[in-house]
Amino acid sequence: MRKKIVAGNWKMNLTQTEGQKLTSEIVNMIKDESTQDVSVVLNPPFVHLQGVQKLIDGASNIHLGAQNCSDKASGAYTGEVSASMLASFGVSYVIIGHSERREYFGETNAMLTDKVKLALENGLTPIFCCGEPLDIREDGTHLAYVTNQLTESLFGFGEEDIKKLVIAYEPIWAIGTGKTASSDQAQEMHAGIREHLASKYGTEIADNLSILYGGSCKPDNAKDIFSKPDVDGGLIGGASLKSRDFTDIVTSF
Ligand code: PEP
Repeated sequence: MRKKIVAGNWKMNLTQTEGQKLTSEIVNMIKDESTQDVSVVLNPPFVHLQGVQKLIDGASNIHLGAQNCSDKASGAYTGEVSASMLASFGVSYVIIGHSERREYFGETNAMLTDKVKLALENGLTPIFCCGEPLDIREDGTHLAYVTNQLTESLFGFGEEDIKKLVIAYEPIWAIGTGKTASSDQAQEMHAGIREHLASKYGTEIADNLSILYGGSCKPDNAKDIFSKPDVDGGLIGGASLKSRDFTDIVTSF
């Protein structure tokens, strides 16, 4: 059985007080609603990690995630945060290769391989993001584009490593735009991703990997998207900043 996961990506939002308030509300709501079979991951900015960690302590299905980690293990890289630092603060998931990191911070497929490697070496679960821009979708070459991202960043890993990953498919044209991929578009891509992973690692491994959908996922479309057989949950941006919306998405399976 694949794990159901809903991960909230706060991006660069919320002050300390706002982040604490949001976390407390989510912890309380999730406690009250039956969501035990869903792993909830909160991915706040680095400075919030310790505060959020304290608030989720004791909530067995809520986990701490980071939005990024360095592609270097340690050293003179001012402003960077390493995978080992994250692990030492109780982080268990890390988003790697978000399209905003690829676009605004020049992260390449090769750099993402190094990040995944360091995350795994430090016991973190990478949430590896892939997804196509609008022109590629309009061209009809989106599946080839996305599978190439996976091949270039991940296919050097062995089976034991790949098994530990979570994949997030996030069409760039749907992120923060209010435009969601239809549930059929999401299913088609998720099935394509799974088939691609199966071609390299076999069906058993591919069938056990959780593939999340991200891109304007909201309470009113989550149920439809999550009902698709190859969609195992969501990576949620904007809607993760509102406790009611986020919790409604968590209960949408
Ligand atoms: C994201 O950035 O990971 C994301 C899915 O954002 P949004 O839900 O706001 O589109």
